[in-house]
Amino acid sequence: MTPFAQAILDWYERYGRKELPWQQNKTAYSVWLSEIMLQQTQVATVIPYYQRFLEKFPTVIDLANADQDEVLHLWTGLGYYARARNLHKAAKAVVNEHNGEFPLDIEQLNALPGIGRSTAAAVLSSVYKQPHAILDGNVKRTLARAFAVEGWPGKKSVENQLWHYAEQHTPNVDVDKYNQAMMDMGAMVCTRSKPKCSLCPISEVCKANAQGNPLDYPGKKPKKEKPIKETWFVMVHYQGQVWLEQRPQTGIWGGLFCFPQSEHTDITGSLEHLGIDQSSIAEQRTLVAFRHTFSHYHLDITPVLVELTQQPNVIMEDNQGLWYNLSQPKEIGLAAPVKQLLESLPFELNNKESL
Ligand code: SF4
Repeated sequence: MTPFAQAILDWYERYGRKELPWQQNKTAYSVWLSEIMLQQTQVATVIPYYQRFLEKFPTVIDLANADQDEVLHLWTGLGYYARARNLHKAAKAVVNEHNGEFPLDIEQLNALPGIGRSTAAAVLSSVYKQPHAILDGNVKRTLARAFAVEGWPGKKSVENQLWHYAEQHTPNVDVDKYNQAMMDMGAMVCTRSKPKCSLCPISEVCKANAQGNPLDYPGKKPKKEKPIKETWFVMVHYQGQVWLEQRPQTGIWGGLFCFPQSEHTDITGSLEHLGIDQSSIAEQRTLVAFRHTFSHYHLDITPVLVELTQQPNVIMEDNQGLWYNLSQPKEIGLAAPVKQLLESLPFELNNKESL
């Protein structure tokens, strides 16, 4: 074992996290679920989602047999919905191609939807103590600083250097503890903006610490201005119900339910498409616009509330969607801004009544 690994393990024994829900009664299923949820998401946010998910789907077979809507519903608010769709696909693959057991071979596990090299390694090392190195965001940051690896880790050559250090120091024994320790180090000590170098077990060998510039590592992604797009949400309301449509499986908010959208401030075309006649509109008003930011662009959203005097028939027949009852919400996956708007809609409607 390298002195680096020994120092990390000694630190873990004293300070590492050992009480997280996914560290109890570990199975490949529970560790995999936690690993996917923890991607780009903090532990405190993940815990309630993880617990609800396991309660609803205690085994990979339960998850494989679930409707995608149920899965997306439980994921609502966690973001990065491709993770939920892949989770569902991977569960089906485990059941259909591996008799309901997660493969113990890293290449086979890595081949499942949404499971990358680091996630596969985390599952196999944590549950079966297989000596595989991991390289999630926390580990990348710690290694980039400890070994002064320059450049953005999204670049292949930089990532390869980080994998090199990760593999060099991952021990054959206590690999489960070491990998957990490296994740904890990144989350608790070598944090993004305020690394606690004075409390760090590897401060004496850390190159960034010696250079006095830990915050220069890892290198930043080259900046590109995000483009701004615009859309209008057409919120058709009739007697406590709002019309929602399911989005295509691919693209933004894939498979989630959303309001019909218009590309123009004039939503007449969208209303016609929904079979809504001007004579059936009691009121139409524009609500406060807001911005939703995706990883690659900003979306400026203007909600337009359309109150109907009668329910159109065409809407029911020609479009894939449903009337969402505000007082008895159906369990479906909702795009985050749609969820926010649905939650504030009763106040909008009450406000209007009191004006
Ligand atoms: S010494 Fe500081 S920068 Fe280096 S690994 Fe430890 S916390 Fe991170």
